[in-house]
Amino acid sequence: MALQRTFSIIKPDATERNLTGAINAKLEGAGLRIVAQKRLHLTKAQAEKFYEVHRERPFYDELTSFMSSGPIVAQVLEGEDAIAKNREVMGATNPAEAAEGTIRKEFARSLGENSVHGSDAAETAAVEIAYFFSGLELVG
Ligand code: ATP
Ligand code: MG
Repeated sequence: MALQRTFSIIKPDATERNLTGAINAKLEGAGLRIVAQKRLHLTKAQAEKFYEVHRERPFYDELTSFMSSGPIVAQVLEGEDAIAKNREVMGATNPAEAAEGTIRKEFARSLGENSVHGSDAAETAAVEIAYFFSGLELVG
């Protein structure tokens, strides 16, 4: 597997509890390099555009309200097989089902407030990275 990039968000429930450093330690400990990172507070409209694929889901309004409720940290992670590796260190969407040692197992509050986002495929990673970062901001 070649070097790959994925997009990550540290969600508002985690920034609120000062967990940015603890989560970054897990990411870096898993061999992922943080090649871009910025803290920002999304508007509801910006969160809705980011989660456009979930528009028809019953939790769309709850999700986009939550994601615009406080600061997030948007990141680009680089490493061997980075998309799958990040999903592994994140753990299952529902923290009750997440494996020991994963970010969601240790830090998530609930299914909705689950501390991190990670791209699920190469195509979505490319779109999500481009939504938040310019090429000049990616420093490998
Ligand atoms: P993410 O896309 O955030 O990395 P994921 O790929 O594990 O997480 P998705 O199915 O893409 O999960 O759902 C996107 C996000 O929507 C979840 O991370 C969670 O915050 C929220 N979510 C998913 N299912 C529910 C639900 N049933 N009720 C409330 N929120 C939910
Ligand atoms: Mg997802």
